[in-house]
Amino acid sequence: MYTAPNTPPAGTPEYEVYAIKYGDHTRMRQDNFIFKDPHDEATTIDFYVWVITGGGRTFVVDIGFEEQEAKARDRQLHRLPSEAVRLVGVDPATVEDIIVTHLHYDHCGDMSPFPKARFHLQESEMNYATGKSMTHQPLRHAYNVDYVVNFVRAVYDDRVNFVDGVSELAPGIFVHHIGGHTAGIQSVRVWTRKGWLVVASDATHFYDNMAIPNPFPIVCHVGHMLDGYDTLRGMAGGNVHNVIPGHDPQVLSLFPAASKELEGIAVRLDADPIGDLSKVWRES
Ligand SMILES: [Zn+2]
Repeated sequence: MYTAPNTPPAGTPEYEVYAIKYGDHTRMRQDNFIFKDPHDEATTIDFYVWVITGGGRTFVVDIGFEEQEAKARDRQLHRLPSEAVRLVGVDPATVEDIIVTHLHYDHCGDMSPFPKARFHLQESEMNYATGKSMTHQPLRHAYNVDYVVNFVRAVYDDRVNFVDGVSELAPGIFVHHIGGHTAGIQSVRVWTRKGWLVVASDATHFYDNMAIPNPFPIVCHVGHMLDGYDTLRGMAGGNVHNVIPGHDPQVLSLFPAASKELEGIAVRLDADPIGDLSKVWRES
C-alpha cells in the first residue's frame, strides 16, 4: 500500500486549500450506497470546487457543471464554478492549472471562463470516457458528451497534461490515480500546515462511503474503489482526518469558513477542524 513520506523536501510551501460549494441536490440516503442502509432519509449531495494556493501558484481542482446541465439533470446551481473560485480571490481568466479529477458532468463542465488553463488529467480517464465502456448506458450516464468533446478539443489545442499514475505537479502538490468510481479518477495530495491533505473528489463521495465502508453506486470496479480507500489513507500519511470527501455536506460544518460572509459556502480545509472528525470516521 502507498504511504506518503512524513515530510516533503525543505522549502516545500504549506498550501492553503479551500472547498467551495457551487450547487446541491436532495436525494435519499439509500441512493448513496451499493449496500442498502436500513436508516433511509432525505439527504443532500453537495457539489464543490477546490482551490489550492501557495508558493506563488494557484491550482483549481475541478470545474463543475453550468446552467444547461443543471437544468437537464434537475440540480441546483447556486453559482457557476468559475464564479465560486472568485469568492476566494481567484480570477478564472488568469488560472493556469486545473486538476480534473475525472470527466463526470459535475467535475468538468465550466471550461470556457478559464481560457489560459492547462488541464491535468489521467490518461486512463480520457480513454475510458471516449472508449468502449461508453457504449454502456449505466457507465456513460454521469458523463456529458459535450463536456467530453471539449476535452478532446483541449487535447488538440495542447491544453491537456496527461498523467499516468502519480505525478508531482508543483512542489508538494501530487495527483494519484485511484480508479474504481471511474477508470481514471485521481485524487490530490497537497502539503499544508497540518501535513498531507487529500482532496479525494469522488474516490469517496461521502465520509460514510469510506468509513463504513460502503461504496457509492456509480462505479466501474468495486474492488478498485475499495482498494482506493486504502490508497487515500496512505496518501494522508495515515491521518484519515485529512481525507476530504467529494460531495459530503458535512465538510462545510466540520471546517472553519473562509470568512464570515462565506459561512455555509466556502471552508479552509488546511485549517484545524471545528467539528468532531472522529464521529464522521466512526472512531470510538
Ligand atoms: Zn463522479
